[in-house]
Amino acid sequence: MRQVENFIRGEFVAARDGKRFDKVSPVTGEVIASIAEAGRSDVNEAVLAAKAALQGEWSTFTTNQRVEMLYEVADEITRRFEDFVEAEMADTGQPSHVMRHVFIPRGAANFKIFADTIKNVPTESFMLDTPDGAGALNYGVRTPKGVIGVISPWNAPFMLMTWKVGPALACGNTVVVKPSEETPLTSVLLGEVMNKVGVPKGVYNVVNGFGPDSAGAFLTEHKDVDAITFTGETRTGTAIMKAAAEGTRDVSFEMGGKNAGIVFADCDFDKAIEGISRSSFLNSGQVCLGTERVYVERPIFDKFVAALKEKAEAVNYGKPTDEGVNYGPLISKEHQNKVLSYYQKAVEDGATVVTGGGVPEVPEALKDGNWIQPTIWTGLSDDAAVVREEIFGPCCHIRPFDTEEEVIGLANNTDYGLATTIWTKDLPRAHRMAAKIDVGICWVNSWFLRDLRTAFGGTKQSGIGREGGVHSLEFYTELRNVCVKL
Ligand code: NAD
Repeated sequence: MRQVENFIRGEFVAARDGKRFDKVSPVTGEVIASIAEAGRSDVNEAVLAAKAALQGEWSTFTTNQRVEMLYEVADEITRRFEDFVEAEMADTGQPSHVMRHVFIPRGAANFKIFADTIKNVPTESFMLDTPDGAGALNYGVRTPKGVIGVISPWNAPFMLMTWKVGPALACGNTVVVKPSEETPLTSVLLGEVMNKVGVPKGVYNVVNGFGPDSAGAFLTEHKDVDAITFTGETRTGTAIMKAAAEGTRDVSFEMGGKNAGIVFADCDFDKAIEGISRSSFLNSGQVCLGTERVYVERPIFDKFVAALKEKAEAVNYGKPTDEGVNYGPLISKEHQNKVLSYYQKAVEDGATVVTGGGVPEVPEALKDGNWIQPTIWTGLSDDAAVVREEIFGPCCHIRPFDTEEEVIGLANNTDYGLATTIWTKDLPRAHRMAAKIDVGICWVNSWFLRDLRTAFGGTKQSGIGREGGVHSLEFYTELRNVCVKL
């Protein structure tokens, strides 16, 4: 069985007190790895390593040297592509094509894009008039923020962790990563890459463990962590924000969603079905940007429900590497129970179950995995729990609408504000709607089409701040103004 340690000061180390926890396969329920569980003293060690590295060789790197090193990190990830694919598949149980085409390539890209950004994005400069006529020159200089605590989730582990580590290192910071307890493998594997390309020791550190009273809390509470970047559930964000208040440390939060998909009768029907099917069922619905509320214009409502049902019923369950498998399990038994409890609640609230609603039949070898059927409901009121709360499963409620104004109101009737996807051929209408729907990301005739230079984040309870392109530089650096009297 795989032994996975913490990664501190360039070394793979067990916890000081020898504590470990098991990593269980979502596909078979077998224990597949033993993970070192960092205690408070291990986390302290990692933070001190990161703090010391800020003063060491890393601080002497020019921007160009950092840029080149991050390119080497990306290239080494690509060289070890199969190792990353294998580790991420073992952790998440999701099909190999998702790893190969999305999660792992995006991990490598996350280092290159921010290397390019730090190199090419200028800072501001202003000439100031002065009474003597000589003037003054103001210019901005970016400096690293310091030690960045990175707390990441399990749903797209490598992609979401590197989305933070890439810009943090590009800006000259050092990091301590606390990956999700469900998916520690790729964060630790990245330690091998860092050593291989010669990233100075202590610049990248990983501590494994859980949230409250464990590595997550120890890290976010640590006074030498200068800023915290977090992706995960909104209520975890609340706990982290409280920890960050001590010492008034900066936070960047990417959190939950209850995203609306809006389909007009004039859409390209096949593309809309394909898009909503992906946004509801990809990664077994465990995508923060995914669609759990679908609003369909009345003339095509019945046709749409029937076509999405067909898609939901066409998934192939199986091991990630099996031929033709396009659908994986949920991450854990705990999460499976949570999603099933919402399936039950929908029925109690009077939903029509169009398809799914339970656990599918799977081969004997997979029976201990966390399988769940893609599920579609209709007929619920707008205040039903499954219409209001984030489920984070492969399910959606579909409701008809009649007017543009009505559907804007429905889309905005949520505590969240992460993403939306609108399907229509009427582009003036799409622009009007994009201006009125209160979200951080609005896709038109597409979903999850990502340009890494753009702002990424959510409004309301979906997040604080924006990451992506230059916006990441805003969080991962301090911008110092220098004013020179001429
Ligand atoms: P989670 O909040 O349960 O856990 C995320 C991380 O926080 C884990 O590493 C966990 O150990 C840690 N953690 C938990 N409690 C903590 C505490 N008190 N202090 C410090 N760390 C703590 O989230 P999850 O279940 O891993 O991920 C699913 C959630 O993430 C969903 O809500 C989803 O919408 C959200 N998400 C958002 C985005 C986005 O970009 N907005 C992307 C992916 C996932």
